[in-house]
Parts: sequence; structure tokens; C-alpha cells
Amino acid sequence: MFVIPKTMRAVVYRGANDLRLETVPLPRIGPGELLVRVAVCGVCPTDIKKIQYGTVPPPRIFGHETAGTIVRAGARVRGFKVGERVALHHHVPCLECHACKHHAFAQCAQYKRTGITAGFEPAGGGYAEYVRVMPFVLPGVVRIPARNSFLEGAMLEPVNTVLKAVQRLALLRGDTVLVAGQGPIGLMFTRLLVVRGMRVVATDLLPTRLELAREFGAAAVYCPKSEVRSPKSGNTQHPPSLPPLDAQLSTIIKQLTTGHGLDAAVIAVPSDALVREAQALVRGGGRVLLFAHTRRGAETAVALATVCVDEKDLIGSYSADFRLQAEVARLVFSRKLDTRRLITHQFPLAQTAAAVELAAHPTAQSLKVAVVQSE
Ligand SMILES: [Zn+2]
Ligand SMILES: [Zn+2]
Repeated sequence: MFVIPKTMRAVVYRGANDLRLETVPLPRIGPGELLVRVAVCGVCPTDIKKIQYGTVPPPRIFGHETAGTIVRAGARVRGFKVGERVALHHHVPCLECHACKHHAFAQCAQYKRTGITAGFEPAGGGYAEYVRVMPFVLPGVVRIPARNSFLEGAMLEPVNTVLKAVQRLALLRGDTVLVAGQGPIGLMFTRLLVVRGMRVVATDLLPTRLELAREFGAAAVYCPKSEVRSPKSGNTQHPPSLPPLDAQLSTIIKQLTTGHGLDAAVIAVPSDALVREAQALVRGGGRVLLFAHTRRGAETAVALATVCVDEKDLIGSYSADFRLQAEVARLVFSRKLDTRRLITHQFPLAQTAAAVELAAHPTAQSLKVAVVQSE
């Protein structure tokens, strides 16, 4: 029989770029809580930033894209039992406050609390062997079907954030959307938009990623030549007769939309130049959605008349929408969005620092990185 130990291994954040494998006490659970043995935890860019720049006080145990097995259930827990394989959500809104009434769940005070911990200030805890799941996030726990893996379960959270953003675009079937950046998140956008009947123009600097975008159903893929785009003008390697890149991209878009322009653009890379370019490429009344501009204090110039006169909305989206959980689970577990294609690298718990390092500096071959303890 499986015996739950008194201590466990966990990767503890001790300061900027300082992750240490330590032995910590097993979290104790209350009567309304679950103890979950972690199988998989995805490495998320928001955690990477906190770890690398040390933007939050240590110690903490990060990791919030978590899937695992329930090993203990408090006496008051209903609807879950020991042995079930589950995907977890660390943020669940109250559904009752002022923000929630406006469906601004990511701004809800309860939502901002992290309801999963492996010890210290709650921070997800997925980079540990066990996590404690608090009562207010139990409504976010999803069972993983027998045919699906823990890896797929761990992808529900990031897919939810993408589907929430897609909803905010308010598109009609057949619309044309630019997805700039085909990392794991950009590829999720590409696939979810295709599944919803949109035509996607996918761009990225890496041809390997564009191949996958095409397999995911992108109507057109385009690889900007970054060296031409760089601010170092007078680049003599390119003859002046070479058409500007925006022209190539806008030709693709003109052909695809018979002239009326993009209905929307998703900016899944933190490039300000791309935001301005996208604003030029969307039609009047279209939307440009920021998904990667998460750095506080960053500023840029925007032609405000494109917002006021051309009615091109500049919007953002952050975090998940609890109401979309069931649809997200259907999309992932049916493999309409085959997240297995996105997970390229798996690291054992002891090598979490290396996993974070790779996710922070992706290679041509790397997409989603996960810390895996059992499959
Ligand atoms: Zn995440
Ligand atoms: Zn609320």
C-alpha cells in the first residue's frame, strides 16, 4: 500500500534566480481540503519572471499548471475521492463581488489569492511532491479522463487563459486573425481560433514553429526577416530594392481578406513594434489584443486616432475565466487542441531550475516545458 510520508522534496525559491531542492514538511490539510501528489507541473512564463527578477519575497514554492492524484481528502470534502487523477486551478473567483458581476474575474480579490500551496506563502506549489488544495479552489478541480495523461491535464490552465482571450475578440466565424508569435501560447491561439472557424495568419521568427502552426490549421504562415526589421538601418546585406516586410505581410492579408484587412490581431510576443504594425493591419472597428505585455512600467507610443477615429480597440487579456473550464477540458481531452504536440521537454523535479532556464530561453526545438514526476 502507498504510504504518505511526513516530509517531501520541493524546489524552493530563495531569491532572484535561486531555486533549491530542499526537504520540507508535507502540507497539512484541513477538513475541507485535498492533498494531491503532483505528477506534472508546466513551467509558466509568469512564474519565470518572478523567479528570474525576484519580484516577490522568498521563500516560495512556485508552479501552478499542476496535475496529479488525490491522496488525501478532508472529512468535509464532497465530490472528490482518494485515487482520482485531477487537474488543478490555483485561482477561482468568488462569482459574487463587484468585479465578478462584471465578469472581470482576474480582478476579483478571492481570485487573486492562490489556493494551492506546498508550504510558505501560497504560490502554486507544483514544484513539490505534494500540494494542499484549499476549499475555495475546489470548484476549479477537473478530473482527467483515463485515456488522457497528466501532461494534458496540466495544460488546462494555460489553454483556459487563451480561450478567455479568444472570447474577448468577439469574432464571427470566417474572420481573419493575425497571431504574432508561435510559442506554446501563440500555437494555442492558432489552434483554438481555427477550431472556432477563423482564418489564422501565423507569424514567428522560427520556421519550425510555423510548420506546427500550419499543421494546427493556419491559413497562412509568415516568417519576418528580423535582421531587416532591426533598428540598425543601412543594413547593407539587403539591397534597397527588397520590399519592406510589412508590405509582404500586408499582401498576404489583403489576398486572404479580399482587401478588408484583419478582423483582429493577437500579440503573443512582447514587441511594441508589432503592436503598432498590427494596429495598421486590422480593419476599422477591429481589435488588437495584448497577451505578452506583462511588464509593469513599460510604455510605448500609440497612434491614438486609430483607437478613436478608426475604432480599433486595443485590449488585453490576463489569466483564466472560470466559466470556460468545461469547454477547455473538452477541447484538450478530445485533443481538438492536441496539447501533446506542444510539450517538447520534460525535466525531473530535481532539475526544475534547468526547466525554468530552458523555458526562459527557448530554442528552435523547444515549446512547452514541464516538470514531470510521473506520467
Ligand atoms: Zn500559467
Ligand atoms: Zn469576485
